[in-house]
Amino acid sequence: MSEFPVADRYFARFLADRVPFALLRRHATAGAQEDQVLRDVDDWVPDTRGSVSRAIVFPLDSDLEEITAAEAEAVQRMVADREYRPLSKAPAVTPWEAQGCAVCRRQWETSERPQFIAENAADHSALYRCTECRTWWLLSERAAAAVQADDIRPNYHEYLSD
Ligand SMILES: [Zn+2]
Repeated sequence: MSEFPVADRYFARFLADRVPFALLRRHATAGAQEDQVLRDVDDWVPDTRGSVSRAIVFPLDSDLEEITAAEAEAVQRMVADREYRPLSKAPAVTPWEAQGCAVCRRQWETSERPQFIAENAADHSALYRCTECRTWWLLSERAAAAVQADDIRPNYHEYLSD
């Protein structure tokens, strides 16, 4: 038996916009491997159609795309949540009603705007902060969005005292 470390390989099938709808893996254990399809949360069944083998041997002819273990984890969370989102590096979009508080959302909706903090010409953005809930808001060319301090630190570090 070989002693080299074994790792699972993951494959996904995507709809448009990289929304995953199937997750498969080559599950490796010491000295053995099995190709499997995720049927439900933590429920892997054998890949009886040989999809994983095909993806490995003929990657260009396969409709599966190999993904990282971290991406596979993200897909499994989607399965658990019963909510499928595009698989991308970008953070999940927070719905408008979940951003900031009623006060600052209303300020944007009425173009009154939360308190202006600074703008960054190079980033084409401006930073605002709600005096009620202390949420940071970044106004970009496209839209205003509630952001975390860490997201804006590269451009606005001198304003992020707390
Ligand atoms: Zn607020």
